[in-house]
Amino acid sequence: MKRLFMVVIFIVAIQAHAASVQEQMEQNPAVKLAVEELVIANHILYDQNAVDGYGHISVRNPANPNTFFLARSVAPSVVKVEDIMEFDMDGKALNGDTRVAYGERFIHSGILKNRPDINSVIHGHASPILSYGLTGVTLKPVYHMSAFLGEGAPIFEIRNFAKPNPDTDMFISNSDLGDALSQTMGLQYFVLMRGHGYAAGADSIKKAVFRTVYAIQNASIQAEAMKMGQVQYLTPGEAATSKETIEKTIGRPWQLWTERVKKSQ
Ligand SMILES: [Zn+2]
Repeated sequence: MKRLFMVVIFIVAIQAHAASVQEQMEQNPAVKLAVEELVIANHILYDQNAVDGYGHISVRNPANPNTFFLARSVAPSVVKVEDIMEFDMDGKALNGDTRVAYGERFIHSGILKNRPDINSVIHGHASPILSYGLTGVTLKPVYHMSAFLGEGAPIFEIRNFAKPNPDTDMFISNSDLGDALSQTMGLQYFVLMRGHGYAAGADSIKKAVFRTVYAIQNASIQAEAMKMGQVQYLTPGEAATSKETIEKTIGRPWQLWTERVKKSQ
């Protein structure tokens, strides 16, 4: 009887042991590819001035849609495969991983939970983006590269959701705020955060990086154009059509950006 009890305990213990990120990479080529791509994306985002010491990118686990991968709390430029942690859709670290996580992982859990069409989320504070959130001027597509901005990026106002005190530290520091950010994003792929930064999403890491880089370029071009006069934005029809065309070619800049960061290592 005692022996049977021990066997049951052993089986329960095995079931409770979730595979670490490293073990999942060894077992599943899709997970390995996703994690390795995530590491390169961290370096590209830094190289392209989309993030600095702050900012992060996540990817949904290809083997489990209810979890995602995100680095532990380190600067994006130094992220390695060993730094990648796994989280559930409440932003809770899995696999008994007790390393320090990004305080704003709820940006990722909120968007990935509420948007099954999005598999990769990026957050950063790139300065060309900030003015739009501050002034309420809509960030709209001025050229084909950022056509995904559609009719303009919504602005998240944290004061409308923070409880009980609207004077927050501006961080998306819990699941409720992550859900609220996702609601403001709606069905779009880019959301501005007033007095803070931006969040971007796409169905793949490569596309999320592409959209982020060109949304930031759009912000600079739009600001310059607004100084010169009346700006002609892409019409909704032009935006929809050119998004379709340009996003078929994202492998090209991805290759360029990957080679750049590999050379600098
Ligand atoms: Zn932030």
